[in-house]
Amino acid sequence: MVAPSVSSSPATARTPSAINHLESIDPASGEVIARFEMTPPGEVARVLERARQAQAEWAQKPLRERCALLRRLREVMFARRQEIAEVITREAGKPRVESLLSEVMLILDTADYYARKAPKMLRPERVPHHSLAVKAKSAWLQYEPWGVLGVISPWNYPISIPIGVLIPAIVAGNAVVLKPSELTAWCGALVGELFEQAGLPAGVLQIIQGKGDVGAALIEGGPDKVIFTGSVATGRRVAEACARKLIPCVLELGGKDAMIVLADADLEIASSAAVWGSFTNCGQACLSVERLYVEQSVAEKFTQICVAKTRKLKVGRGLDGDTEIGPMIRAGQVTRVEEQLRDAVARGARVRTGGALRTELGDCFFEPTVVTGVDHSMLLMQEETFGPVMAICPVVDAAEAVRLANDSAFGLGATVWTRSARRGREIAGQLKVGTVMVNDVASYFAICEAPHGGRGASGWGRTHSKHGLLELVQVKYVDVDRLPRVPKSWWYGYSEELGVAADRFLEMLFAPTFRERLGSARGALKTLFRGHRI
Ligand code: NDP
Repeated sequence: MVAPSVSSSPATARTPSAINHLESIDPASGEVIARFEMTPPGEVARVLERARQAQAEWAQKPLRERCALLRRLREVMFARRQEIAEVITREAGKPRVESLLSEVMLILDTADYYARKAPKMLRPERVPHHSLAVKAKSAWLQYEPWGVLGVISPWNYPISIPIGVLIPAIVAGNAVVLKPSELTAWCGALVGELFEQAGLPAGVLQIIQGKGDVGAALIEGGPDKVIFTGSVATGRRVAEACARKLIPCVLELGGKDAMIVLADADLEIASSAAVWGSFTNCGQACLSVERLYVEQSVAEKFTQICVAKTRKLKVGRGLDGDTEIGPMIRAGQVTRVEEQLRDAVARGARVRTGGALRTELGDCFFEPTVVTGVDHSMLLMQEETFGPVMAICPVVDAAEAVRLANDSAFGLGATVWTRSARRGREIAGQLKVGTVMVNDVASYFAICEAPHGGRGASGWGRTHSKHGLLELVQVKYVDVDRLPRVPKSWWYGYSEELGVAADRFLEMLFAPTFRERLGSARGALKTLFRGHRI
């Protein structure tokens, strides 16, 4: 594969050209694998203007034409699936299997889902009126595009997160300006290429490359809505910038997901899920399992199984076929994990396996780590770790597990492990999060029907599913009066008599007994059929 380097060959060292270019770095080797021109922040206003012009035409295309674009996109992405997976793995480090299953599969399925479902979801919806007072009206809800959306995305799922938003945004008739993470500029460029190859008209999707200042310029430029995925700290800045301009935004922020393991759970299955849920993408997933609460009668046995399974995991370069844990994205991310572990150990936690850098592999390879003896005074249990660390905490019973799971600023997802579906659903109802899976972990992110989003510090709004699509459209209520020649009874021409009739009308609609309502009917009709009007 030829990297789209702005220099003729991939360079291995930083050069002065990096001042105007973003360098795509392979986290496994530290080598620069491609360079991309940065969009000057001063250019962003022009990009938005172009998007506005393109959107006006795009929104006029029939929905079936926009759905046909999605089908072509799916074909393009399917044909290029190996290449997409390779770019993800080279730039973000994750094992190739994960690039295929948690990114490529998701975007193929998302294109398929909205191509089939968008016509029904966006069809004008008849509104049946319940009140007698407005029975003479017919009305519809119409779904209209916002216009130009600003989409700002992170590096950890550099293809599936942006495309998971772009597909419903574009099928709904919006234009999008996408600002990918500076750490995954190659994936960002590839996103633009895929839509272009599928035949999306120029200007409907534009990619602006750069750092945080380019993201800030995008909001400053005044898109109609912002869909942001990233950290809490940046999310807060984005929300403030949007608030200043009264731009609505969706915020998909960090997580600290809890896994509750009850004593009746199948420990073999639950431990495999815990190990995968904690370490997939090297723990760099918003919905990683970061805290485990295990009923104490099985906690030690469960921990031992998890430790044994963790020790079997192969750490290495994502491009090697048998690698299960790739590198973390950058050394700075490793430092954050080390700091949390140091704090936990100083407060009495015990590292049961892992806990160190694999320096012989490179600067970013951190061993998958299992920690016990944790409590909520530790940073490890409070802050998002975003690394390959599984922290296990025994609990007396399910009630304590729920209390501790809810003792967090975050509220993205949680999982419950039990043989009883009924208990699982009961506990799900008590957890303050956006999603609960019973006897599975994280996979809902790839289920098109499942809305994704959190509470508290995990953000607001939803992506994916019908709810995610509805974030990307404005709802318009259109009301057509069926008696256009009849003036309304609430219009001017007030009088004592009308006051009395109006009161009867309220009695007819809302009096506690049917008898009273019936008794008021005659007086109430004077509201409708009154003489004095202007
Ligand atoms: P960041 O918050 O650092 O960055 C997210 C995006 O915002 C990047 O494109 C970044 O650009 C951009 N950005 C930075 N500063 C600004 C600004 N002032 N205005 C506008 N945009 C700005 O997050 P990461 O990329 O490090 O991603 C990891 C985080 O994302 C984790 O906390 C994770 O939990 C969260 N996340 C949440 C998900 C969810 O669905 N809830 C899913 C996936 C991740 P640049 O990279 O160039 O600095």
